[in-house]
Amino acid sequence: MTQATDYIASIQATVEGRDPNQPEFQEAVGNFLHTITPVFEAHPEYIKANILGRLTEPERAVQFQVAWQDDQGHMQVNRGFRVQFNSAIGPYKGGLRFHPSVTLSIVKFLGFEQIFKNSLTGLPIGGGKGGADFDPKGKSDAEIMRFCQSFMIELQRHIGLDLDVPAGDIGVGGREIGYLYGMYKRLRGAERGILTGKGLSYGGSLVRPEATGYGLIYYTEAMLKENGQTLAGKTVVVSGAGNVATYAIQKAQEYGAKVITASDSNGYVVDETGIDVATLREIKEVKRGRMRDYAAAVPTATYYEGSVWDADLKYDVALPCATQNEIDAAQAKRLAAAGVIAVAEGANMPSTPEAIAEYAAAGLFYGPAKAANAGGVAVSALEMSQDSRRMSDSFAVVDGQLKAIMENLFAESVAAAKEYGVAGDYMAGANIAGFTKVASAMLAQGW
Ligand code: NDP
Repeated sequence: MTQATDYIASIQATVEGRDPNQPEFQEAVGNFLHTITPVFEAHPEYIKANILGRLTEPERAVQFQVAWQDDQGHMQVNRGFRVQFNSAIGPYKGGLRFHPSVTLSIVKFLGFEQIFKNSLTGLPIGGGKGGADFDPKGKSDAEIMRFCQSFMIELQRHIGLDLDVPAGDIGVGGREIGYLYGMYKRLRGAERGILTGKGLSYGGSLVRPEATGYGLIYYTEAMLKENGQTLAGKTVVVSGAGNVATYAIQKAQEYGAKVITASDSNGYVVDETGIDVATLREIKEVKRGRMRDYAAAVPTATYYEGSVWDADLKYDVALPCATQNEIDAAQAKRLAAAGVIAVAEGANMPSTPEAIAEYAAAGLFYGPAKAANAGGVAVSALEMSQDSRRMSDSFAVVDGQLKAIMENLFAESVAAAKEYGVAGDYMAGANIAGFTKVASAMLAQGW
């Protein structure tokens, strides 16, 4: 045992001992810690400054009541959260998730990942995340609005242009951001930069809806190119049918790949002729329907119940774009056996630690979420910049910046992995590149 491995083990033990009931947060910290030892071997000053002790405890975590009235006139109560994890390189930045599974553990895992993701983009933003255990499914627009208004009445106390700028995530899209912003404006005035993911007519950025999905494909293409491959001609399996999945499918098809699946939490569709993005958007975004409705509308598609990662399919590239821990070890083995050469994560932490070990054992190219899905927050930061300048950049300008950011962060991950003796490990590279910027900023600012 070296001083570095001792130190990292002690951090892991502290996190496990302090929050034994936060499995997702422990998983995210564990995934990170086991790749970071070489940095601590090279920088003992980070041990003295206890950088990891400070990084694994949020700077601030707020939990609050969200009471709202349903369409029948009954008062409902949900639990809201905002975790402000680390502000060393800029104001806290990260999405809001509305889903019944949201707990402090989920918000902390997402906020922890966000620190390094935001650092990797090269933009001046710290890490945070928030949300509520509210289920938007089956709610009327009026119920969604009343929930968002009540959520913002409390959240507005904790956010600010140079303090904390939330965005969307699962269950929080353009509609929810609109209602949240409308209530913020009534309470505090028209500060456009207070939320990102806004509509274009009130301060949003072109390319923000597409950014995470497009960015995932720019990253995937860079990873394949590094290994003498390209997306053109590849068969791709995508999970999810939300914001990230939809635009990943669209961009992958533009790059000449054939995407044969999309899914929701009930089941998935397979269409060997390629998913029709226009129909998918109509069903998900306009009708707020389910994947079984897609299969009913598209004659070449077949609907199956269950997880797409259990499907018996032949394909080359896997893009999980739904949720955390959607691929376990057995499913990772199955996809490697199906001929997959690359996995790139659109969702946050979609692969369990055991699944990641299977990718490594099978020699797959693996693009971890904090790098591969950083496009969303990158364009959010560009939206903040446009709001400050009171200017709107064109689609081509923002898309060009997004592509450059994704290619650059992939290149930085490759370089960091090489520098610290783990060449070809894109997960370690992303963790190291994201971490070293934050650690040096923390050291420079004292404590
Ligand atoms: P959406 O709410 O738009 O879509 C989520 C999709 O994933 C839906 O198809 C949903 O199906 C499915 N899903 C959600 N929970 C589960 C579950 N427990 N099991 C199976 N499927 C599930 O969310 P986004 O597309 O925005 O987010 C998807 C992932 O990408 C998340 O991990 C998010 O954190 C991550 N991400 C999002 C960013 C963004 O800019 N939006 C940025 C970076 C990462 P159903 O309708 O049945 O719930």
